[in-house]
Amino acid sequence: VRREQYRGMGAAEFFYRNKEIAGFGNPVRAIYQTIRELVENSLDATEVHGILPRITIQVEEVDKEKGVYRVIVDDNGIGIPPDKAPYAFGRVLYSSKYVARQTRGMYGLGVKMAVLYGQMTTGKPTVVITSPMGYSKSYKFKVKVGVKTNEPEVLERSEAFKSAKWHGTRVIIELEADWRRARNKVLEYVKRTAIVSPYADITLVTPEGLLIRYPRTTTKLPRPPKEVKPHPKGVDVEMMKQLIDKTTAKSLVQFLVSEFQSIGPKTAQTLVSMAHLDPSMNPKALTDSQIKALVDAFREYPRFKPPSAEALSPIGEELIKIGLRSVLKPEFVEAVTRRPSAYEGHPFIVEVGIAYGGEIPPSDAPILYRYANKIPLLYDEKSDVAWKVVGESIDWSNYKVTFPAPLVVLTHIASTKIPYKGVGKESVADIPEIEKELKLAVQEVARKLKAYLTKKEKEEEVQKRVVT
Ligand code: ADP
Ligand code: MG
Repeated sequence: VRREQYRGMGAAEFFYRNKEIAGFGNPVRAIYQTIRELVENSLDATEVHGILPRITIQVEEVDKEKGVYRVIVDDNGIGIPPDKAPYAFGRVLYSSKYVARQTRGMYGLGVKMAVLYGQMTTGKPTVVITSPMGYSKSYKFKVKVGVKTNEPEVLERSEAFKSAKWHGTRVIIELEADWRRARNKVLEYVKRTAIVSPYADITLVTPEGLLIRYPRTTTKLPRPPKEVKPHPKGVDVEMMKQLIDKTTAKSLVQFLVSEFQSIGPKTAQTLVSMAHLDPSMNPKALTDSQIKALVDAFREYPRFKPPSAEALSPIGEELIKIGLRSVLKPEFVEAVTRRPSAYEGHPFIVEVGIAYGGEIPPSDAPILYRYANKIPLLYDEKSDVAWKVVGESIDWSNYKVTFPAPLVVLTHIASTKIPYKGVGKESVADIPEIEKELKLAVQEVARKLKAYLTKKEKEEEVQKRVVT
């Protein structure tokens, strides 16, 4: 018999071998995904921190024969401290976003996949120039991901004094790409990003020399998300152990009150007695079976308040309407932001916008603009819960819409945990709670569209009578 060869594999090597699961499966997807990851990081580094974003995306042709392109993304964000930057770009699964707060990034993977793809196809490192807020210098790195070790490989490092006011980050990645076939998706991605961020100034320069600019149309930013403590309904045994490791609380009751949402001293006492534990015991002394008993008490306790929505940053009805109006130029817009809801201990908010008529071309089905945590999702539409609702379960003829019709439906799910179907973040799983909220939201705006269309019909009838 042949001897099996056993060995372990690190995170960087795993994603290097399975790049398609992160959206880097071919030269078309690779450049689209590279731009997306960089833009999402730029938006997280600005908007989430109360800065009005200014983002420039440049795509340049480096070698036409070989199909090599350079992607440059510039932002006015908070920057990255110089001791963290090599890891942020050179270590897979390294992030500042592993906290309960709504951001676009959540895996600590995106930009490293772009760095890896660049180094695999061109051999070149990624260049990062960053100046963190409050620093007097800017820092430049040339960095690669160490595939075997998952340690950043810093090939060059330098620093320079800067003018006091500038802060932000510029990332330069060279990669092999099929720009010609990716082009339309990239343009669509930027357009859809602009729709939900009318407070951003976004410029795209293509290799053909086309300059597309979405100027800022409002200075109103969505409410920034706050970091929150975990909700008891979302806690399992592993998470409980991690929280116990970190806590400085000396008693079990104190631990419950200080580390979780919606547990006050009285609830803490109840939970402790449900688990048959001693309220004054040191949490670090809990045995595995006692931890399990505590988690079971969390599951059974029926009166927790729903998870806090403070960690969420919905776009808001006003900004959705501004965005749809300024980019699509429709004759009618409406939007709704639903009240917060929750699934498995994770808070979420659903928002839906509708744009109808005007410059929107008629099509045979609703044109669906899907967003999750403000990220436009362009691939895998048919497997997304939003399509299930908008494209399949809603009967649009109930709302006076007969296809072909000039109808755009925008759906947004904001959550501290989006149930994506894959790490490439392309479609959202059909969680019943989310599906229900989506349906209610679509119905709400669709009723307003119906009222508008009914009124318009009557006015046209009056017009006809006047004319004939
Ligand atoms: P994620 O966005 O999921 O956290 P990434 O690999 O895309 O993972 O980015 C890793 C980290 O690098 C981010 O969490 C952030 O702290 C930092 N970062 C990346 N790009 C920027 C940027 N343009 N400005 C500030 N910080 C950034
Ligand atoms: Mg990211």
